Amino acid sequence: MQKLKLRKKDKVLVVSGRDKGKTGEIIKIFPSDNRLLVGKVNIVTKHKKATQNEPGGLSKIEAPIHYSNVMLVCPKCDKGVRPKLETLQTGERVRVCRKCGETIL
Ligand SMILES: [Zn+2]
Repeated sequence: MQKLKLRKKDKVLVVSGRDKGKTGEIIKIFPSDNRLLVGKVNIVTKHKKATQNEPGGLSKIEAPIHYSNVMLVCPKCDKGVRPKLETLQTGERVRVCRKCGETIL
């Protein structure tokens, strides 16, 4: 998953699929199948069965999308970018926007 360069709470832009053009924050990452849960993106409707205590109905929840359908949003460019990784003197790896050179934390 390292190659994805994506982390929880990153702002990402959806670049393909039904929600193309939408942006959202990564809620959860599923490294085993390269999928991400992004807030307010790829909403699916789940049917809930009625129980004795609760009425049934529809609930809308996010479904995971494949990482290749999103791009990291550079806070400076405010656009989806493919960042490069740079290693700081401290040994820390940071993501850097290829367009403006901004470090994306
Ligand atoms: Zn940038």
